[in-house]
Amino acid sequence: MLKAHSLSPEEILRILKTDRRGLSEEEAKKRLKIYGKNEIEEEEESLIKVFFRQFNNPFVYILFVASGISAYIGKKEDSLIILAIIFVNSLLGFFQEFRAITSLKALKKLTEVKTKVYRDGKLKVIPASELVPGDVVYIQEGDVVPADIRLIESVGLMVDESVLTGESVPVEKNADVVLPEDTPVYNRSNVVFKGTHVVKGWAVGVVYATGRQTEFGKISEKAKEKSPETPLMRALKKFSLAWMVIIFFLLSILFLIGIYQGRDIYEVLLLIVSELVSAVPEGLPLVITFTLVIGAIALSRRKVLIRYLPATETLGSTTFICSDKTGTITEGKLKVQEFFALNEKFLNLISALCNSSDGESGDPVDLALLRWLEENDIDWKKLREEYRTVKVFPFDTKKRYMAVIVEKEGKYYLLVKGAFETLSNFSEGISEELIKVHDVLAENGLRVLFFAYAEIPEPVEDIESLKLKPAGFVGFLDPPKEGVKEAVVNARRAGIRVIMITGDNLKTAVAVAKQTEIYREGDLAVEGKDLSKYSDAELYNLLKRVSVIARALPEDKYRVVKVLQEKGEIVAVTGDGVNDVPALKVADIGVAMGSGTEAAKSVAKMVITDNNLKVIVEAVRWGRIIVRNIKRAITYLLTTSFGEITLLSSAILMKLPLPLYPTQILWINIVTDGVQDKTFPFNKEEIDVMKEKPQKPEKVFLDKRLFLRFLTGGLFIGFINLILFKHLLSVYSYEVAVTITFTSMVVNQWAVGIQTVRDYPFFYKPWRNFQMNPYIFIGIFIGLILQLLAIYVFPNYFHAVPLSLEHWFYVILTTLSVFIFIEIRKLVFTIFSER
Ligand code: ATP
Repeated sequence: MLKAHSLSPEEILRILKTDRRGLSEEEAKKRLKIYGKNEIEEEEESLIKVFFRQFNNPFVYILFVASGISAYIGKKEDSLIILAIIFVNSLLGFFQEFRAITSLKALKKLTEVKTKVYRDGKLKVIPASELVPGDVVYIQEGDVVPADIRLIESVGLMVDESVLTGESVPVEKNADVVLPEDTPVYNRSNVVFKGTHVVKGWAVGVVYATGRQTEFGKISEKAKEKSPETPLMRALKKFSLAWMVIIFFLLSILFLIGIYQGRDIYEVLLLIVSELVSAVPEGLPLVITFTLVIGAIALSRRKVLIRYLPATETLGSTTFICSDKTGTITEGKLKVQEFFALNEKFLNLISALCNSSDGESGDPVDLALLRWLEENDIDWKKLREEYRTVKVFPFDTKKRYMAVIVEKEGKYYLLVKGAFETLSNFSEGISEELIKVHDVLAENGLRVLFFAYAEIPEPVEDIESLKLKPAGFVGFLDPPKEGVKEAVVNARRAGIRVIMITGDNLKTAVAVAKQTEIYREGDLAVEGKDLSKYSDAELYNLLKRVSVIARALPEDKYRVVKVLQEKGEIVAVTGDGVNDVPALKVADIGVAMGSGTEAAKSVAKMVITDNNLKVIVEAVRWGRIIVRNIKRAITYLLTTSFGEITLLSSAILMKLPLPLYPTQILWINIVTDGVQDKTFPFNKEEIDVMKEKPQKPEKVFLDKRLFLRFLTGGLFIGFINLILFKHLLSVYSYEVAVTITFTSMVVNQWAVGIQTVRDYPFFYKPWRNFQMNPYIFIGIFIGLILQLLAIYVFPNYFHAVPLSLEHWFYVILTTLSVFIFIEIRKLVFTIFSER
């Protein structure tokens, strides 16, 4: 292992066969082949492995045994059909998983971390995964360190290494030192490690380890544990277990009764096993994952990139959105709207010189000031030539001001602009009137900056001990974004509280919050510094009424998120700077802006490429639709399984011959569930999901309606087919009766599938059924062909006989009655929920 820290920059460049201009593209490509991608994740599973994994499942084992037994006792057709069913089922599972894998890959590509690297002497932006040892990279404030890097050149570099050390105080790094070989890893101040965040400064360095060779990679190797289960998956497990226990119990009793009645033990056993296999929704976890993936893809088209898949299911449950103001709620394009001058000369001078913009790009405040000077025919470039800048105190988000010391003709001036609350503490002549002027500007929703200056004999280090003279105020207009107000109203309807957390002044923030309806009569607005007065419990109660937190620091944001979460709230929070990383990390839904720092993006669960509160609220709506689609798939699967169980158990209890053959039960599973449940992830939604209150992910399955739906539906299907079967036995031969019942069960389940697409009755705007889910009809078409093949081409294999038109009449009759039954139930449900 290369001891990068004990080598000088020249030595390490030589050893890695590279130089300050970086590698050539060609060389980088070669090295990528040798070293592999700069990634920590497991190697991808091969497709063949994915295919064979489908067979690695207890239910498949059971079926293999069943097939073996059938062959042993001479039922060759049954044995073959069971094998075919295992194969087809696995194939269906494989295709679904294959789609999920490829979609996930595409999603991952969208959220890749980017990095700046010198290749062929030119600085380029490439995906961090393509870095190789020997690459020379450039890192700066806000970046995620993309690999383990020996610094070659650095200026004021501070790095947050908490991902590695747990220590959140940033550490200083310096290219110029060479350290002893045995320096412990985390004292190596001339190297930076993959996964850490640059808090300040910039550096150029050479990559000496990538992927799993990095310190971060080694830790992840050690702590290789499965990612924690999501609330929904946990709930699903519990639910499935309960369902399985019930099914197992019911079927065991049926088995005993069947034996007691003197039925053929092979028939009964195979029947029970087949029903067990088809009633257990073993494909459900995959259906859920698939629904989440499809949902994430739909979101990506709406400018929302999901970085952490389970966030999709949590989204819909959001109860609080804590949002930045500038850029998310407002346009973020500032324009000087009003000013108040006590000393016009200095107001202009400060605007021109206490300014970090070059007139083209830079801080929006500074850029707006230069535009404003230009509009008033003031030549700021000339002013910058006349006055020489001696020292800059860059804008500091904590202190909230920027200052410069300039010199002209041997005289020095300190020029300052920033938050009035801070600067008034060391300014003279702050009259009541001046305060009034500030407040009036702020109450109009303007971002107000205070301008002040001092004539000084010589450059100083500590400006806060001086007494500044006021030059005036400038008020910047930053209007609310389009659609924010509607989004806030929508969020409120959906039971979500929106809190604006901003660095801006309280009055300005409240004014903007009023315009967007975030703040309403009776709400509270507080300043960040006030939060420390409250205990966590008090703060939580306060937050239920607070809609604006002004002059807030990232620490305040972090605490708010923590306090809300501890009380079980589901919190979405926005952020874009390195300082926002802790809050973004702990939040249920950390939302980073596409334009934000790589550090913020790398910890956020969601990145929005169109920075607007509207987009977040829309994502919540999608989250709810996704959860509803999961519920649809579950309702469907349970209804049909319950229908089969009802039919079988009542037939056995009534001492009738068995209404279905075991292989038929397995077949039904394929031509109904197999082709239908895969279409629910694509289901659209017409119900206004934002009308409902947020539901916890773990409560998704404890839904009264879901129970009512599958219980009533299942019972109805079971009994109607029992009646049918009983009648058929008195009219036709057993083989005909069974084939009709078999087909009836299939077509009934298709009807259930169609009816599961919407909450509204089918005949209410019937074309909508096709709009909401056209795929289910395609699925049914495939199922129909398969079923026709079974009864007309391979009837012998399915204990079936080809049906005549007269027989189909029965099938249509039961299907219609099932369809109408659900239609009436929907009618009742809709009437109830409209009330
Ligand atoms: P938001 O939540 O609205 O995005 P923020 O937290 O990003 O706000 P900052 O940009 O940190 O807010 O600004 C906080 C305060 O610092 C402003 O209200 C203003 O008083 C002052 N300020 C902002 N930009 C500058 C600047 N370029 N020069 C001097 N002071 C500034």
